[in-house]
Amino acid sequence: MNRIIMHIDVNSAYLSWSAIKLLQEGYGKDIRKEVSVIAGDPTKRHGVVVAASIPAKKVGIKPPINLYEAQRIYPNVIVTKPDFTFYKEMSNKLIAFLKMVFPSVEQFSIDECFVNYGEVKEKYGDEVNFAYRLKNEIFKRFGFTVNVGIGNNKLCAKMASDFSKPNKVHTLYQNEFEEKMWHKDVSELFMAGKASCQKLRELGINTIGELANYDELKLISILKSHGKLLYDYAHGKDDSEIKTDSYNERKSISYSRTLETSSDSRNLLNEYLKDFSIRISNELNKRHFYAKTVILTLRNDSFDTVSRQIKLDNATNSEETIFENGQRLLNKLWDGDPIRLIGLGVGDFRESLMYQLSLFE
Ligand SMILES: [Mg+2]
Repeated sequence: MNRIIMHIDVNSAYLSWSAIKLLQEGYGKDIRKEVSVIAGDPTKRHGVVVAASIPAKKVGIKPPINLYEAQRIYPNVIVTKPDFTFYKEMSNKLIAFLKMVFPSVEQFSIDECFVNYGEVKEKYGDEVNFAYRLKNEIFKRFGFTVNVGIGNNKLCAKMASDFSKPNKVHTLYQNEFEEKMWHKDVSELFMAGKASCQKLRELGINTIGELANYDELKLISILKSHGKLLYDYAHGKDDSEIKTDSYNERKSISYSRTLETSSDSRNLLNEYLKDFSIRISNELNKRHFYAKTVILTLRNDSFDTVSRQIKLDNATNSEETIFENGQRLLNKLWDGDPIRLIGLGVGDFRESLMYQLSLFE
C-alpha cells in the first residue's frame, strides 16, 4: 500500500509570527504585507536579515543578507527584532494542535512537521481535501498560513511543500515525480548541497533527471554513500519513518561504519570521516543546528572501543570543520592498529538563528 505523508511548513515563520505579535500589541500594520524584515538589532546597522516578507523579497531583499544591505536596497524597510520566546510558543501551539489531529507527528524544525496521513485516511478521507481544511483551520486558530506538501514519503512531501508559497497545497506522488521534478536544476533536490552540486556538474549532471539517469555505481564510487542517497532522492525514493520523539531531544548526530575487514589504511579512514562529515553537516543544516563538540569513536579487532571529543571555540555546521576535527581526533586517538569500526558524531547543539544573531552581539 502507498504511504501518504504530509509536510506542514509555516510560511516565512519568523516574519509571520512577529506580525501576529505586533498585531496583538496594537501595531497598526501587518508587516507581512509591507516591505519588512526580521533582523538582529534594528538600532544597529549591522546584523543579519533572517526573514523577509514577500514584498521585501520582491524588491530584492533575500535573506541571509546584511541589514545594512537591505536598508540600502529599500531605506524605508520595516525592521523587527526577533522574539524567540514568542516563536517557540507559536511553534508549540502548532505542534500541540497537530498532535490532536494526527497520532504520528514529527517536528522537523521550529516551523516544519511531518505527519503520517495514511494512519488517519479512513477517518478523514481524501488527503488533498483534508489538507485544504487543515491549512484553513491553522489560519483560523493561529493567524498564520502554512504550505502543505503531500507525497508517498517524507522526501516528496517536503519538496512538494516548497513548490509555490504561501498558503498552498501541493502533491508530489511517486508517479508525478518525473514530470514535476526531473526538469529542475539539481540544486533543487533535497540534500544536494553546494559541494555535491559542484561535483555533479563536473560530471555533466545539471538537472535532477540527469542525476536519476546517471550510472548509479559510478556515482557511488565518486560521491560514496551520499551519491547513493542523492541517486535515490532523484528517483523520489525515501524509506525513512516518521520520528515521533521531539527533535530537540536528540542530543547528538553520529554516523559509524563497521568495516568488512579491519583496516589500517589512513586513506580509507579519512574517506569515512569525509563521508560522515558531509552527512552530519547536511543533518545540522536540515535541523538549523550548529554543534559545539565533535566526537570520534574507534574500535579495534579486540573490540576495544575508544572515544574522544573536541570542544570547538565556535559552534559549526561546516563539513570542512567537522572533517578537520575528526582528523585531529584520529591523529590523537589512533595508534595505527587495524580498525574495525569508525564513527564520527557531533553534539552540544545551538539553534542556528540564535547562533547567527549572537555573532553580532
Ligand atoms: Mg517555513
